[in-house]
Amino acid sequence: MMKNKTNVKWKKRAATIVMSLCLLMGLMPLKVFAAGSPAQLPVYTIESAGGGYVESDETATFTSSADFTLGAVYNEYTNCVNIDYYNANDPSMLDDGYDILVECNISLQFTNPTGDSPTGDSISGEITIPLPSGYDGATARTIDGVTARSYTETTVTFPVTLVVYSGNAFTQLYVEYHTHSYGDWQKDETNHWRECTCGEKADSAAHSYDNDADTTCNVCGYVRTVTASTPSITGGQNEKWTQGSANELIFTSNAPLSEFISVTIDGQVVDEKNYVKEEGSTIIKLKADYLSTLSAGNHTISINSTSGSATTAFTIEETAKSSSGAATDNTPKTGDNNNLFLWTTMLCISGFAILGTLIYSKKEKNIK
Ligand SMILES: [Zn+2]
Ligand SMILES: [Zn+2]
Repeated sequence: MMKNKTNVKWKKRAATIVMSLCLLMGLMPLKVFAAGSPAQLPVYTIESAGGGYVESDETATFTSSADFTLGAVYNEYTNCVNIDYYNANDPSMLDDGYDILVECNISLQFTNPTGDSPTGDSISGEITIPLPSGYDGATARTIDGVTARSYTETTVTFPVTLVVYSGNAFTQLYVEYHTHSYGDWQKDETNHWRECTCGEKADSAAHSYDNDADTTCNVCGYVRTVTASTPSITGGQNEKWTQGSANELIFTSNAPLSEFISVTIDGQVVDEKNYVKEEGSTIIKLKADYLSTLSAGNHTISINSTSGSATTAFTIEETAKSSSGAATDNTPKTGDNNNLFLWTTMLCISGFAILGTLIYSKKEKNIK
């Protein structure tokens, strides 16, 4: 029984010690951060005139380039970031083109991992603070002209150097922001955009036209030069049709059928009853009845569309009968020359023969 009593006593004592330790830890928790690992800090803000720092639901992040130990947050001035959105708005401090100045004080109770609280040292790192609503992180810079190292839609990050004095590290940042002011449309051959005096671009997009023929951008008014592409014959170039044939002659223009106006042959508009027109892009089929009315020889057909005329030549050849005659005509000239040579030779030979006969008979007469 005695043994048990002492055990209970000891257990109670141990519990008290643990509880005391916990209480102590609770009052002064120490957090150790390795170099590069971010420490989250509460943010206290002043939003309006005459107000003191009030704890906000925003947070800041300090990332040190050396290992460090961060103490507890005792009040609105220790181990936190104080952001003054109101009192720093002194127009005389703002640079031209900037319209809000934010004072940011970073205070940390700072010890290195061995427990030292160095004096006179400086600790470098970076601080990520909330971006004032309605501003673009791209516009953020310190009044010394240092631009943000990076930014997101809600935060902006600056390099900082904290001066350590008796274990307290401190620095002050004055960050100014501006509201972008985009002027008139800027434009080049393909795009339009607006540009702020800070160089930030917005609304960048390709010009917008109603169709391929439209020359003026609907957004910025840029005027382009449209080189009208005249249509051309893509099928049926230099086609031939033989008289008496029942076939059609088919010609294709690459102009859309919707732009079709007329067909002209040798400059004369052809009555629509003489052809069939089909989609693809514009297909014209000249009927055999009509082709038979054309004279043999070369002709020119134009398929006329709103975008221009596609033109090619075609030939009407005579019927098979006369075309065999034409084939004789087409025999090489050397053949004709040979015939002529033959005839001339024969003529000469017969000439000489006649002459010879005459001379011979004369001689015979003389002898007689
Ligand atoms: Zn701007
Ligand atoms: Zn445009």
